[in-house]
Amino acid sequence: MADFLSKPLPEPLFDQLTIIGVGLIGSSLLRVSRQRNLARRLVACDASPSVADRVRELGIADEVFVDGAKAVKGSDLVILCTPVGAICQVAAQIALCVEAGAIVSDVGSVKGSVVAGCQPLFRKEVYFIPAHPVAGTEYSGPDAGFSSLFLDRWCIITPPDGADESAVERLQYFWAQAGSNVEIMTPSHHDLVLAITSHVPHLIAYNIVGTAADLEEVTQSEVIKFSAGGFRDFTRIAASDPTMWRDIFLNNKDAVLEMLGRFTEDLSALQRMIRWGDGQGLFDLFTRTRAIRRSIIAQGQETAAADFGRRVIETKPGKDQSQ
Ligand code: NAP
Repeated sequence: MADFLSKPLPEPLFDQLTIIGVGLIGSSLLRVSRQRNLARRLVACDASPSVADRVRELGIADEVFVDGAKAVKGSDLVILCTPVGAICQVAAQIALCVEAGAIVSDVGSVKGSVVAGCQPLFRKEVYFIPAHPVAGTEYSGPDAGFSSLFLDRWCIITPPDGADESAVERLQYFWAQAGSNVEIMTPSHHDLVLAITSHVPHLIAYNIVGTAADLEEVTQSEVIKFSAGGFRDFTRIAASDPTMWRDIFLNNKDAVLEMLGRFTEDLSALQRMIRWGDGQGLFDLFTRTRAIRRSIIAQGQETAAADFGRRVIETKPGKDQSQ
């Protein structure tokens, strides 16, 4: 694992990479790009002057801007790493300044709305190829990033209809060299898959932690004291960035509502099993779900270690894989 990251490519894949939005994902991309020599020159851009200052202090880019139009000049790869709600806004700011022949991509957790909103903004000499690294933590900001974030995680690339094949291949190779396993999907299929594997689970975590916080007869100290009984894992997920998750639910509304409908039906079935004492039904379901957990471990997306394997996967204190 560390071996892969410590071997820089003999020749960079891109001449200049611009990352716009230097939080957890953007700063991790800068770090891995530097470590693996994925681009000759690294340019960072964040609309927030305090984030831009911090990125300068961290020294993870060769040049730092607050103005996107200036930051994309001379870049052959531009990756938008802002919250989903800001991606098309940033695309509109840079569209006319991006160099002909450049690839513009993003890392947003929702793809349908990003493709629909951004693709028409770019002229045909610019290759707009969205992507989503399915890797993350509940931490935000430029200090939260680390170069091994994408290692052995999936990155889903969602090329719009008629996308340039060689541009898709170049982006695919970039993510593979950042350590990811790459899969190609349509934007709508991505949104459906992620609704059930990521978005609805986050919604459930936000809801259960909110419900516990509202329970008047259970005190705050009891919630913390006895949190090992499953609740603690929900609190970790429910600590995820509020802006990012607000934008995900607003932008993946249809798929989330569809999956939530199915979830609610299944929850009602469970409610009935408990009410009518259907122990066999509960046992059968729990046996099926245990097998799913075991297959996730078998596929290397999680470890079997205690504490959901987070202490084993983490590369810095307090980091874990959540999304
Ligand atoms: P983050 O740590 O909050 O970083 C986002 C950065 O973008 C912040 O520095 C933010 O500045 C900046 N920003 C916001 N609006 C901007 C604009 N208009 N122009 C330039 N910069 C702007 O977020 P993140 O966790 O890295 O997530 C970034 C993207 O990755 C999101 O689209 C998310 O859906 C996706 N993603 C996240 C995860 C995860 O687990 N975190 C995993 C996969 C994909 P301010 O803080 O000042 O607003």
